[in-house]
Amino acid sequence: MNQRYRKTIIAGNWKMNKTPSETRALIDELKTLINRVKWCDIVLCVPFVNIPAAIKATKGFRVAIAAQNMHYEKSGAYTGEISAAMLAELGVKYVIIGHSERRQYFGETDTTVNLKVRAALEAGLRPIVCVGESLTQREQGVTLEQIRMQVKIALGGVEGTSVKRVVIAYEPIWAIGTGKTATADQAEEVCGWIRDCIREIYGARVARAVTIQYGGSMNAGNAHELLSKLDVDGGLIGGASLKAAEFAAIVNAANQ
Ligand code: PEP
Repeated sequence: MNQRYRKTIIAGNWKMNKTPSETRALIDELKTLINRVKWCDIVLCVPFVNIPAAIKATKGFRVAIAAQNMHYEKSGAYTGEISAAMLAELGVKYVIIGHSERRQYFGETDTTVNLKVRAALEAGLRPIVCVGESLTQREQGVTLEQIRMQVKIALGGVEGTSVKRVVIAYEPIWAIGTGKTATADQAEEVCGWIRDCIREIYGARVARAVTIQYGGSMNAGNAHELLSKLDVDGGLIGGASLKAAEFAAIVNAANQ
């Protein structure tokens, strides 16, 4: 973390878990466990149908609510889809875009990620853009090339003034939900590389203001070490965000 230049953001990705009543219960529990937050922003990425309950339950608690996906079109014949404006009107502040599960199971591509990033920004939402390599790509030594391509395509057409509102989450696919975490040095290498890619396009001033998270089996036991790295500005946390004590411990680690 480098809190002089950018915000640390701890985001919980609940994936397809929790009903609206369970959402209220988990947030109530979190409220009792999270200390006064000074240094970091907390984001809860909940299923679409839980957004109203989450927004109501977090009133007066410094937590922003995020969606886990959106469509890039403003409106139209896209049965089952949700637009950025619909989310913004509910009070949603962030939206995850291009999570590896969406790329793997729902046909998300770098091109649709770019369309969604631009649509989210236009609607006033902050996109959390996920990038990451597969195990094969890591073993073949092409991690940095893969990340650079994903970052450059995701940010295509995004102005320098808007890019500071984009959060990038480095999520090695082999570390998501597997219990295998990247080492702090591996996370730092790739998060630093992402910042280099942003610097190349937008210059040093913009690059140092962008929040770059790590995600992939982050938990209460490894959060402190990962977050101690200069270019790791927070976490996108899946499994551990569903356990109030574990998620609160990660937030408190970022808040030191
Ligand atoms: C995620 O869903 O983005 C994630 C990182 O999951 P987990 O923490 O469970 O690996």
